[in-house]
Amino acid sequence: MDDPYHVLGISPNASEDEIKKAFKAMAKKYHPDLNPGDKKAEEKFKEVNEAYRILMNKGGSSSQQESSAQGFNFNDFSDIFNFRGFEDIFRNFGFSSKGEDLRYDLDITLEDVFNPAVKTVKIKHRVVCPVCSGSGAKEKETCPKCHGTGKIRRNIRQFGSNVVFTTNCDKCGGSGFIVKKKCDNCNGTGFVIKEENISIPIKRGVKEGDYTILQGKGEPSVNGENGDLYVVFHIRKSDTYSISGNNLKTRLYLDLRDLLNGIELDLPTPWGSERVIIDAGETGPLILKGKGLYGKNGQRGDLVVDLVIDLPKKIGTKELNEIEKALGERKEPHISAN
Ligand SMILES: [Zn+2]
Ligand SMILES: [Zn+2]
Repeated sequence: MDDPYHVLGISPNASEDEIKKAFKAMAKKYHPDLNPGDKKAEEKFKEVNEAYRILMNKGGSSSQQESSAQGFNFNDFSDIFNFRGFEDIFRNFGFSSKGEDLRYDLDITLEDVFNPAVKTVKIKHRVVCPVCSGSGAKEKETCPKCHGTGKIRRNIRQFGSNVVFTTNCDKCGGSGFIVKKKCDNCNGTGFVIKEENISIPIKRGVKEGDYTILQGKGEPSVNGENGDLYVVFHIRKSDTYSISGNNLKTRLYLDLRDLLNGIELDLPTPWGSERVIIDAGETGPLILKGKGLYGKNGQRGDLVVDLVIDLPKKIGTKELNEIEKALGERKEPHISAN
């Protein structure tokens, strides 16, 4: 997906209010109900939703407290967040039978970026109780009102004729049964918390804040589809390299002698050592073309190496005088075109 700020047409400095405002306007514009049959609008609508989810959950662990999940303690979810912050607009889309989407923030190292692989993490999440299959009942009886169908019919007289409506049974809530005894395994909630190993594929070219969607690994649903798990990647800072777009940056500390005389050396890179020649008087940076990170399009950035003079901490006056003598007449600072 594109940069979520870009999708919503706002600047990365946008406030929460501005994000909400932009989202509402876009969601309204591309709402499937207002653009029936328009595939492009539908795609755009999904994109806008995703962008909003991402932005509203940025570092948003406070969302944990807002869960309305019943009979279940959110403290069990130290590592997984509910996607909250959705506007009511979402609740009317008829997705209600789908479980909610969850977010998981995964720290990865630069090593993972250099050599992407599948990471396996242990996470706790809710699943449908395997004992009662989500009914929450140990003993149940057929609902006497709807006779187990979960639906009741209502006759309504309208414009002089009878119209028959079918709605969910109000006595059993549409399940078709009445719980006589609660399921012991889930205490009647229909859900249990399970610790599960989840494999998260890291793609080549992964960037800070990128995410991947693991379908069906979000909140469970008894009757509908499970929600999805959004895994957001965060790249840990490295002592050796920094990232700038697709470029990798590092510093090479050299003794003044080596800078004055020039030096040939094996430069360590994430992809093995590279023989580099630094000419006498070279000031850098050295640019190792195509030795950076992989971009989304498969092209690689560069490895940019700044040269730093590794001077002694302290130089005595006598030594300084000798260096001055060796350098000859002092040149004034001046500028010139490249
Ligand atoms: Zn159960
Ligand atoms: Zn019923």
